[in-house]
Amino acid sequence: MNPIGVLCLQGDFREHLQTFESMGQETIRVRKPQDLEGISGLVIPGGESTVIDKLSKSFALRDPIIKHIHEGLPIFGTCAGLILLADRLKDAAPGQETFGGLDVVVQRNAFGSQVDSFEEDVDFDGISHSVHAAFIRAPIVTEIGDGVSVLAKLKDGRVVGVRQGNILGISFHPEVTGETSIHEYFADMCRSANFSSNN
Ligand code: GLN
Repeated sequence: MNPIGVLCLQGDFREHLQTFESMGQETIRVRKPQDLEGISGLVIPGGESTVIDKLSKSFALRDPIIKHIHEGLPIFGTCAGLILLADRLKDAAPGQETFGGLDVVVQRNAFGSQVDSFEEDVDFDGISHSVHAAFIRAPIVTEIGDGVSVLAKLKDGRVVGVRQGNILGISFHPEVTGETSIHEYFADMCRSANFSSNN
């Protein structure tokens, strides 16, 4: 399989690179439009969605990423990455835009501030064991469109993992807890999509 791209503008992209490396999965750091050529999937990491939004515009990556999403490139967004994949946001910063693709409403900072961060074991549809996940100023999915499947919920029922076709979005950070199962799940999505693009 071709390498998986990791958007390396801001946030915890290193942890994603290390997680794939620990699985023996080849990656490419995506910082300019040409880096999208030939990748089999793209990860949008956690960090600060407003900053990734702005940097994607200054690095001329916003339009090509949106085009790739519509063409069916497998995409995996964690936390800020989930925010960037939502079609609609609650509590967006003024002027904040997303790439979109997921027919959902995502509420930013739904659990409060940095001090309200926590870890929890989450059941994830398609993964046989529970996933140890860190929630850091995490968003939640508050509304779900028809074509969207819920893959993970907290014990209280709040939705923290969704998939719509080629797009996977989760509120939490498996990449900081040494968890590889969701990255394996995404690598399987990339393998079966067998996406090819000349940019
Ligand atoms: N609250 C952040 C945002 O709005 C996301 C936090 C995270 O990615 N851990 O972008």
